[in-house]
Amino acid sequence: MKTLSHYLNGQLSAGQSQRTSPVYNPATGEQSAQVALATADETREAVRIADEAFVAWSKTSPLKRARILFKFKALVEEHTDELARLISSEHGKVFSDAKGEVTRGLEVVEFACGIPHLQKGEHSMNVGTGVDSYSMMQPLGVCAGISPFNFPAMVPMWMFPIALACGNTFVMKPSEKDPSTPLRLAELLKEAGLPDGVFNVINGDKEAVDVLLTDERVQAVSFVGSTPIAEYIYATASAHGKRVQALGGAKNHMVIMPDADLDQAVGALMGAAYGSAGERCMAISVAVPVGEETANRLREKLVVELDKLTVGPGLVDGPDNDMGPLITREHREKVAGYIQTGVDEGAELVVDGRQTTIDGAGDGYFIGGSLFDHVTPSMRIHSEEIFGPVLAIARVASFDDAVSMINAHEYGNGTAIFTRDGDAARQYCEQIQVGMVGVNVPIPVPMAFHSFGGWKRSLFGPLHMHGPDGVRFYTRMKTITQRWPSGIREETNHFTMPTM
Ligand code: NAD
Repeated sequence: MKTLSHYLNGQLSAGQSQRTSPVYNPATGEQSAQVALATADETREAVRIADEAFVAWSKTSPLKRARILFKFKALVEEHTDELARLISSEHGKVFSDAKGEVTRGLEVVEFACGIPHLQKGEHSMNVGTGVDSYSMMQPLGVCAGISPFNFPAMVPMWMFPIALACGNTFVMKPSEKDPSTPLRLAELLKEAGLPDGVFNVINGDKEAVDVLLTDERVQAVSFVGSTPIAEYIYATASAHGKRVQALGGAKNHMVIMPDADLDQAVGALMGAAYGSAGERCMAISVAVPVGEETANRLREKLVVELDKLTVGPGLVDGPDNDMGPLITREHREKVAGYIQTGVDEGAELVVDGRQTTIDGAGDGYFIGGSLFDHVTPSMRIHSEEIFGPVLAIARVASFDDAVSMINAHEYGNGTAIFTRDGDAARQYCEQIQVGMVGVNVPIPVPMAFHSFGGWKRSLFGPLHMHGPDGVRFYTRMKTITQRWPSGIREETNHFTMPTM
């Protein structure tokens, strides 16, 4: 059995720990590898390596750092198909989705290549007589990243390109469910010319994470994952004096106004609800049609489209399926359990994904797309994140009811409104308590040069990921006020300048 381990000081490093976790191919249910789970001592060693590498890396010129990222970008482009196959074989998502994920990550690398311009600081002359003031944005030191299973390439790439470009060193702790891609990215960084020790990968679970949250050499922690863990990460790392950004779970609503282009809205909903089998923090899991007629027409069209949804392995010869399997057997059972919960709670199960026949499913963790109607805010299938291909229709009578329902939800990651009414769209953008809003755009993920982050229990910490907030997060400002009275120059001149 292949054992995946760590990447320390510029090379793959076999773990010392006796503990491992299985890695599966979700399309077949077969174990493809095991991953070493680092001990606390091994994690401390990763931090020590990164701390040592910081001395030289932080003094490397910003342009040299950016040039390495330029080369890394070219290498990732060259290896996109290979990376996408790795992602698909451990995560299960379809090949085109996996390629899309690599591309979205690459956009952050491209943004990071321009960081020398964003890290220049500010300068004011003559703030007092003979006094100038300037600020510089210095790197922090060792930064840690902890990522979830659902984007094994993109989420690490939200973090480390910016941290490295700003002059920090990094310890990445990927999800133990699909650890191969971050290890491959570490090799590509080395090939691009990154000095040993600047980027390290430690595989593990809570034991490794707890070291990253408490070791005094770690200055900042970026986390993406579920809300209970995000809250724990934020509380623990903050209590140990670290800067933290911890992104959590989500339940995203799409409002469909009576004047919306319904075909466009349905097409958007199909991709946003069922793409990547609903395992996206920006997936739409609740459709909120305004008015009974809109709801009836929407439901009718969704049923037709669901019938066409193709479910199957992520890697196939020929055209991609629409949707692959879920990440683990346990998660598949959890999603199936939520479908039963919805039925027990009194929602109407219009399409039952548990009944979908999937050709060649074997022991893979497949489940078809499900659709509920007449879902109400008090139901668990509305209040909790399912993280699977289950779309709920929650009918409302008015725009105001839609806004109130969404604002009352504990999560606030993403949302969308579909309408032809500019005023309704504008009111929605102003009133909705959600971090990322789409107008006729179902998954409003900001581009790399903007920042990504939710509100409420979808984000703990003040700064979002990548974009301007990313640069702020990975640097700290120092402001220097200096006075060189002209008298000093005259005196200096008197002693050093040759007399004419
Ligand atoms: P998870 O919270 O189970 O795991 C995330 C990371 O935390 C992993 O690296 C895992 O090893 C580690 N971890 C798990 N339990 C831990 C513990 N007790 N102590 C310390 N570390 C622990 O999340 P997941 O199942 O891998 O990912 C799915 C979740 O991530 C969903 O809730 C999804 O909404 C969320 N997510 C959010 C965003 C966002 O941008 N807000 C993006 C992607 C995923």
